[in-house]
Amino acid sequence: MAVTTPSRSSERPPVSHHPSPTDTTLVTGKRRLMLQTKLTRQRAMLLANAHLSRLAEREAEAQPDPLDQATEGLEQELAIRTRIRALEQLHRIEHALRLMQTNEYGRCRRCHQEIPYKRLAVKPDTVYCVPCLTRLEEE
Ligand SMILES: [Zn+2]
Repeated sequence: MAVTTPSRSSERPPVSHHPSPTDTTLVTGKRRLMLQTKLTRQRAMLLANAHLSRLAEREAEAQPDPLDQATEGLEQELAIRTRIRALEQLHRIEHALRLMQTNEYGRCRRCHQEIPYKRLAVKPDTVYCVPCLTRLEEE
C-alpha cells in the first residue's frame, strides 16, 4: 500500500532575525494551520487504514485455512492491539483538533507550559511536554 509522505520542506518554521510581537502571532497562526493540516491528514489516514483492515478481515474469514487458524489467535490479538492503538491515536487527534478551536492547544496538560513547536511538529497530537511525559512514564 502506498503511503504518501508529506513534504518536509514546507514544514520548516520560517527564520526571523527580528521577531516583533506581530510576526510571532503570524508565525504561530501559520504553524497552527500546518499542524492542523497534519492532524487532519493523519486522521484521514487512520480512518482509511481502519477501513482497509476491516476489509482484509472479511476476506480472511471467507477463506478458512488450517495454517491460518493456527496463527489466528496471535494475529487476532495483534490486530486488536493495533486497532486499539489506532483508535487511541484517533481520539488524541480529534482532541487536539478540538483544542485548536480554543487557545488550549499546545499547552502541557500537566505543567500548563507551552509545548515547544519542535515537539508539536513531530507529534501534533501530544498533550504533554517532554519533561512531563518522561515523568509520567517513570511514575
Ligand atoms: Zn509539562
